[in-house]
Amino acid sequence: MNKISLKNLSREEQFKFFQSKYDYYKSFNTRMITVSVLAYLSFFVTDCSIFGHFAFETLLSRAIVIVPFVIYLILSKKVSDYRVMVTASYLMIHIIIWCTDWATYLLPDRQFAIPGMIIMNLIFVCAGFSAPFGYSLLAHMFLLADIAVADIFIQYENVEMMYLFNLPCIFAVSAMHNMMQKVYFEHYFAKDQLRQLAVHDQLTEVYNRNKLKEFINFETGEFTKFSGLNIGFLLIDIDFFKKVNDKFGHESGDKVLVWLADILKNMVRETDYVIRWGGEEFLIIMPGCSVENAARIAEKLREKVETSDNGVCNSTISIGVSQYTDGDYSVAVKNADIALYEAKNTGRNKVVVHNED
Ligand code: GH3
Ligand code: MG
Ligand code: MG
Repeated sequence: MNKISLKNLSREEQFKFFQSKYDYYKSFNTRMITVSVLAYLSFFVTDCSIFGHFAFETLLSRAIVIVPFVIYLILSKKVSDYRVMVTASYLMIHIIIWCTDWATYLLPDRQFAIPGMIIMNLIFVCAGFSAPFGYSLLAHMFLLADIAVADIFIQYENVEMMYLFNLPCIFAVSAMHNMMQKVYFEHYFAKDQLRQLAVHDQLTEVYNRNKLKEFINFETGEFTKFSGLNIGFLLIDIDFFKKVNDKFGHESGDKVLVWLADILKNMVRETDYVIRWGGEEFLIIMPGCSVENAARIAEKLREKVETSDNGVCNSTISIGVSQYTDGDYSVAVKNADIALYEAKNTGRNKVVVHNED
């Protein structure tokens, strides 16, 4: 079996993965940026001690960082797209670096540049949790360009040491981020598999009732999606299924269930939901489908089942059809059940539409 890796995912799935990674670490990321800004501001105390008086000289270069920080906070409240927010986070980190360069330029003593770099590398470690590996690598490498530009103004006493210190840091931090991303991918993939298992019926592989949680508010019974659309409901039950089990055994009964589920899945639209509702009962929810169309599809399903071979015995189904417009979804299920009951009582192997009167 091929091991699933990030590279094998489609663009859309990769986007979902990176969005999930960002969402998971979002609050950590915001706090990390906040702490970095506070730490940066606190270095004003160091400036005062270096100058030996209140450091008016570096006050602006320290305080100015509050402006982009406030913009960053507003953005993080309004925007959830990881591509925007990860870029904004790294921009914020580089702004701190540029402001540090500015303050350093104004200071009479520049021997603290390398210890400052240790802190910046720590910030890059933290920022990588929520970011795609490519973003973190690029943003961290950009630190070398920051040093080159800053050196034009500051003229570090030992610029070679700045590069020699940062290059291994970039390499080590990037290797760590790459590994972290792989670990998060395994975690994400396992979680996704569990989520899929939780909403699927193991035998027939159609959905189970848990799927409803994705589009129904269980407090009110109302749909949280598909607003303004008619929603068709089909309740399907195999006729005389007990006899199948009694005559051919439970395993053959299971085979018939899988066969029926396959027919249902293959004959409805991708936007419809086929749910195993009970033992041999299936519910199909059809958003954007009028009751007339739902009845037409139900008739096609009934005919297909009647004329197909399942390798066990001839099987037929009865179907109750109803429509949801608003209110509690369980009313639509109950109405489909009433129609199904009528189908059973008036000969089976038929479709009955619930009469709203
Ligand atoms: P009717 O036409 O009135 O629906 O008759 P019926 O015999 O189909 O009656 P009913 O719908 O009450 O039968 C349900 C049967 O489905 C009872 C149970 O043994 C069987 N059943 C429920 N779940 C499973 C399952 O997972 N596998 C198998 N093989 N049988 C199941
Ligand atoms: Mg039944
Ligand atoms: Mg039955």
